[in-house]
Amino acid sequence: MPGKIQLLPEELTSRIAAGEVVERPASIVKELMENALDAGATDLLVVLEGGGTVSIRVADNGIGIDPDEAPLAFQRYATSKITRFEDLWSVRSFGFRGEALPSIASIARVEMTTRTRSLPVGVRIVVQAGEVVEVSEAGGAPGTTIFVSRIFEPVPVRKKFLRSETAEQSACLDVVLRIALAHPRVRIRVTASGRDLLNLPATEDPAERSALVLGPDFAEQAVALSGTAGGSSLTGFISRPERTRSSTKQMLFFINGRYVRDTLIHRAVMTAFRRRIEARRYPSALLFLDMAPAEVDVNVHPAKMEVRFRKPGEVFQHVHDTIERALSRFSPVFPAGESPSGEALRPPYATGRVEEALRRYMIRSEGEDSRREGGGVPRYAPPLLRTESDGTAGFAPAVTEGRSYGASGLPYAYIGQAAGTYLLFGASDGLLIVDQHAAHERILYDRLQRREQDRPPESQRLLIPEVVALPRKELRFLLENAATLEDAGVLLESFGGDAIVVKALPAFLEARDIRSFLLDLAEEVGRDDPSGRGISPLRDRMLVFLACRGAVKARQDMSREEALALLTALGDDPQAATCPHGRPVVVRFGTAELEKMFRRR
Ligand code: ADP
Ligand code: MG
Repeated sequence: MPGKIQLLPEELTSRIAAGEVVERPASIVKELMENALDAGATDLLVVLEGGGTVSIRVADNGIGIDPDEAPLAFQRYATSKITRFEDLWSVRSFGFRGEALPSIASIARVEMTTRTRSLPVGVRIVVQAGEVVEVSEAGGAPGTTIFVSRIFEPVPVRKKFLRSETAEQSACLDVVLRIALAHPRVRIRVTASGRDLLNLPATEDPAERSALVLGPDFAEQAVALSGTAGGSSLTGFISRPERTRSSTKQMLFFINGRYVRDTLIHRAVMTAFRRRIEARRYPSALLFLDMAPAEVDVNVHPAKMEVRFRKPGEVFQHVHDTIERALSRFSPVFPAGESPSGEALRPPYATGRVEEALRRYMIRSEGEDSRREGGGVPRYAPPLLRTESDGTAGFAPAVTEGRSYGASGLPYAYIGQAAGTYLLFGASDGLLIVDQHAAHERILYDRLQRREQDRPPESQRLLIPEVVALPRKELRFLLENAATLEDAGVLLESFGGDAIVVKALPAFLEARDIRSFLLDLAEEVGRDDPSGRGISPLRDRMLVFLACRGAVKARQDMSREEALALLTALGDDPQAATCPHGRPVVVRFGTAELEKMFRRR
């Protein structure tokens, strides 16, 4: 039923606009907290009733608002943060559109009490469904408190879209936790229905804050990274590759302190982790990217959750390279911080400070058994980051001081082989279990790859070149890719007709049946990337295949010397935490874990 074209009344347009900014209670929490941070607050209190569906209060100790200007804050496009269009390219504040307060006030009742430091009294303003209904003097400490109630009452349809109080509350908490991660210097508390939900002390150490927010599971194994490129800097933490998750929930990206969802950064992270983790598994990554505001447009999304980079290629490279560098310093054999070849890693959470903070400030999640044996660090699982059991045993690196390495150069003694496949090594601080096939495969793959980059591969000429006849499809595939194969040490040529002649094979390969080796190669490498990620070029698949073929098999005997040699090679191989298929290579049980298993603590 099309009608006449007419201008909508302001009351209606503001509610429509509000729909974009204020989707649910969590959006209110986000906007109010961001305003508080923009006002320089160092202490934030968030009080939720009904999970944020009944009321939300955010109190800050920021600069406050001058009583004369306070009513303006509720007018659309009223902001103190920019004055000219060009300012958009230099703003560092969260806000600049002047939309949040009027939007919230158009769908709820908002009571604001605010006082600047310079004035003895402040002002209290009540706005309801967009109308200022009360302005009066108010006392109180400097800062601003905003109390939002009757949420979505003027727009009953939106109320219907709300989920359960629990779900809304956990969305609110997610917002708070994301902000908390990016602002360790700000003290943040949350109470819900009278109970303490979160109490994060201010800290200078981002590691301490992220340990508190992401919990001990993350804290135990994350490694700090940092890198700068062309005026932007990246800092943060990533998980060791053997600690993967089934979802991307613990991949959190921040640009200039603002949480964003960004596919470019996601891809850069996944590319750096490629060949280190299995398909459809994800690392944990907490990344803070800081760059000149002019390099990134944050004005492309109503809630500013998505951004556009001026130079996406450079951002990708920067993120990718920084993570790759950090990953290349991991050694699965040496505990964190003791990389034998690379520079020392800083084990960010091994500090007493962090442990102390964990002990003091972790608030137990609901329903958790608070009388767990031995006390220790209580597990706190905020909804955002609920830890899942990820099927891998503990890899937590234990940091011990004054270690002396034995004759083999390794602080481990070989115990023996279990189940024909797993090599056991004992150490003064735990137990190491190595999957012999996966380990060897990883070592060969990395060697092949290094060799490809530096010098020609070590291949061995066959005493008698072998002529094999092959089906046409396989034949064509091998001949078409002869150059790539040669780079990897497989030298073959056409022998006319349906035959090829094989002249050399990689030195580590013992191909007894060359024909079936070639058939397998053509079949497995020629196939489309089974991981479905489409980022595995042919050459790489070739190396994976050769490494797999050359590696010692499962259920194959290993001598003590071979076992120790394998472990030594692993210790020298920075990527060796996982095999080229992404499965773990080494599982490490630290003393603490062993003690836990035997209930000694
Ligand atoms: P924006 O943040 O985009 O400027 P808002 O509608 O969120 O727009 O806020 C409007 C103005 O109100 C801000 O520019 C700021 O001057 C003031 N303001 C809002 N919240 C606070 C606060 N907690 N402390 C101090 N000033 C605030
Ligand atoms: Mg704002």
